[in-house]
Amino acid sequence: AKWVYTFGDGRAEGEAGMKNLLGGKGANLAEMSNLGLPVPPGFTITTEVCTYFYENGQSYPPDLAAAVDAALAHVGGLTAKTFGDEANPLLVSVRSGARASMPGMMDTVLNLGLNDVTVEAVARAAGDERFAWDSYRRFITMYSDVVLGVGHHHFEEALELYKERKGLDLDTDLTADDWKVLVKTYKEIVQKELGKPFPQDPSEQLWGAIGAVFGSWMNARANKYRELHGIPSSWGTAVNVQSMVFGNMGDTSATGVAFTRNPSTGERALYGEFLINAQGEDVVAGIRTPQDITEAARIASGSTKPSLEKVMPEAYAELVRIYGLLEKHYRDMQDLEFTIENGKLWMLQTRNGKRTAKAALRIAVELAAEGLISEEEAVTRVEPAALDQLLHPTIDPKAERKVLATGLPASPGAASGEIVFTSEEAEEARKAGRKVILVRVETSPEDIHGMHAAEGILTTRGGMTSHAAVVARGMGKPCVSGAGSLRVDAAGGSLTAAGVTLKRGEIITVDGGTGQVLIGKVKMLEPELSGEFGTLMGWADKVRRMKVRANAETPLDAKTARTFGAEGIGLCRTEHMFFNGERILAVREMILADDEAGRRAALAKLLPMQRADFVELFTIMQGLPLTIRLLDPPLHEFLPRTDEEVAEVAASTGTSVAKLNARAHELHEFNPMLGFRGVRLAVAFPEIAEMQARAIFEAAVEAGKATGQPVTPEIMVPLVMTKAELDLTKERIDAMAKAVAGETGVTIAYQVGTMIELPRAAIKAGEIAGTAEFFSFGTNDLTQTTLGISRDDAGSFLGSYTAKGILPADPFVTIDVEGVGELVKLAAERGRAERPGIKLGICGEHGGDPASIAFCETVGLDYVSCSPYRVPIARLAAAQAAL
Ligand code: PEP
Ligand code: MG
Repeated sequence: AKWVYTFGDGRAEGEAGMKNLLGGKGANLAEMSNLGLPVPPGFTITTEVCTYFYENGQSYPPDLAAAVDAALAHVGGLTAKTFGDEANPLLVSVRSGARASMPGMMDTVLNLGLNDVTVEAVARAAGDERFAWDSYRRFITMYSDVVLGVGHHHFEEALELYKERKGLDLDTDLTADDWKVLVKTYKEIVQKELGKPFPQDPSEQLWGAIGAVFGSWMNARANKYRELHGIPSSWGTAVNVQSMVFGNMGDTSATGVAFTRNPSTGERALYGEFLINAQGEDVVAGIRTPQDITEAARIASGSTKPSLEKVMPEAYAELVRIYGLLEKHYRDMQDLEFTIENGKLWMLQTRNGKRTAKAALRIAVELAAEGLISEEEAVTRVEPAALDQLLHPTIDPKAERKVLATGLPASPGAASGEIVFTSEEAEEARKAGRKVILVRVETSPEDIHGMHAAEGILTTRGGMTSHAAVVARGMGKPCVSGAGSLRVDAAGGSLTAAGVTLKRGEIITVDGGTGQVLIGKVKMLEPELSGEFGTLMGWADKVRRMKVRANAETPLDAKTARTFGAEGIGLCRTEHMFFNGERILAVREMILADDEAGRRAALAKLLPMQRADFVELFTIMQGLPLTIRLLDPPLHEFLPRTDEEVAEVAASTGTSVAKLNARAHELHEFNPMLGFRGVRLAVAFPEIAEMQARAIFEAAVEAGKATGQPVTPEIMVPLVMTKAELDLTKERIDAMAKAVAGETGVTIAYQVGTMIELPRAAIKAGEIAGTAEFFSFGTNDLTQTTLGISRDDAGSFLGSYTAKGILPADPFVTIDVEGVGELVKLAAERGRAERPGIKLGICGEHGGDPASIAFCETVGLDYVSCSPYRVPIARLAAAQAAL
């Protein structure tokens, strides 16, 4: 096999399409070389070597060493240097690069090949001793940290101590002699920590770094990240070895990162930061405050430090030329890394940039407007789940802001929560149902789980491209980074700024839109959707086949659903209406009644309230379809629980506490979810279904008259397992329709259908379709009953199942395609065979999950129904499923 692919000098053995083999970074370095862009020559060791490594007891293919030597010689040829040569040494960087970018893995070792001898040669060649020794100390620090396991802090402490003693402030203030002293100290630290010297042999250094990259593929953090993002461990990582270019060669050198469009807003403008006389890790580490790239951005940020455009106009012009070219080529926003060595620009990376949902929308719509992509392609460019971010609240502009500190607006949205200082605290609080803001000096990949658990993130160090900022944007969580005036005392559990000290557990608010950190909880506003949102949704609506409805029962939910573009209500859970106001009293009276006559009396009180609810819903929906489900939950859910509540209800219903308790006892069930609920209630107490049917028909008559639009209710019977249950209930409904028509003189068109949420119903769907005029898959219950996993109690063990890969995802979030999905497919087929054209929908939680929506498209369902806030997500997901 070919294990190694070279690139550089306008040529490459690989290209962008080879991400699986070369990883994302390697494939794009090859592509940029092929495009003739200035890329330092290098080579990529393939992901297949990683696979081989793990399949063969962490050893390499026998012919790999020769291939690496040949590639090193090739790179040496292009750079006129020799790896390991004492007089004219080639220095390299070593970087990991999986198919998908993966924080948590070994990242980068720079300046590899330096030792006590080559450092002198580098100094001579550059005519710059400071630069050479600065590079050497960087190399020892990085290599020790990521390859030898001697932590960063050892070296940082030594450096801080030295600077303090010498009265120096910035790293760039240190001279060659200073670095020489520190290099000696650094080597002593390694000797002391490891009991052996820092490796001097460049070849040993290189293989050490390669081994560290492959080794990091399976470290705990990488495993966790893969688990969270569904990346299989079989993919492996590639290793990129590249000749060094130096951003730390003095004031005509620099290093930076840039986005071709603003990753927060999507605005079309080069956006990024750079540092003069620095190497790549300085930007990300946030040790010095970076400078803006464009003059416009500098003015906007109010920075006093000059922009790249001002200080290095030629390199800037070259960057502008290249970014235009790369955007055209990749037809997407790019995230670039570059280094300027003595005024010459070198490209170190390009990739499709991560972005907020807001930016994703704007970029997709503008790329289509610019003619770079089609409208349909634009629809595929926005991750449906990411729309969630846009639907997040922001701070009410009228609210009073008690500003504690201001940092960078690193990720949009706002959130309030208790202060916590560690990821562990964040997770614990989250489990206990509390909302927290994770406050850190800076975050690292170890904090991913804490960031997931937090509502928002606040750091005191780091820029817009710091770890916290990048990861928070990806997660869609509000983040303020680099709030430098805050002092964090994690051990003492407090946070201080502007003379105010807040303790762990106190509430703060982060505003990721302005960068402000506010004291206390602040009033939030629901988001307004931008013009691009409407445009992209319009394009999505053009291509999707499935309709999108909402699960809603309150007028507010129904209105929200319509604002978000719902095309009807797919599930109106009438029991939710029963809890409202006075209704609960009548409901309890009905439950407590001794006989049918008593129940009917209570139901008569409920009827006008139910009717009014339905009139309101029909009116809001203006003729759009509305599926109303008959009462589903077990009756005990409506009874009071605590002694206090019992006493109160007893008093208000004129019942004795003893009787109330006795009735609750009677209704108690060991498995209420598998008990006296759904259609079973209608079988035992048909008068309940009759009351509901009457309320629906009378409301339809009334709303029809009021709106001038005919209303066609879809009445849905839950938890059916046999046709006979449905027949019995349908008879009652039909009889009630006739009765209401007789009384009002208005005949309402309606349908009676059923939920398919039990395996038996799915299997007998053909027969059931003989009666049912539509099916709605209740995949919450269907998942529960097919897997035999309680939907209410699964949390305690489901995590282990997904962690161990026994289940690919939480089956209550993403449909279990192989099991539950098979039943859905079977029921759809059998239903259609019996009743061609039968209307099919889904109304379990899965109706708002993009992966499940993709499945629904393959089965050819007519619609999905989901909670109102997920309607836009479902519209976009349905469009992508159709493409
Ligand atoms: C379902 O079971 O999927 C469903 C929508 O009904 P509920 O969640 O109300 O049981
Ligand atoms: Mg159900």
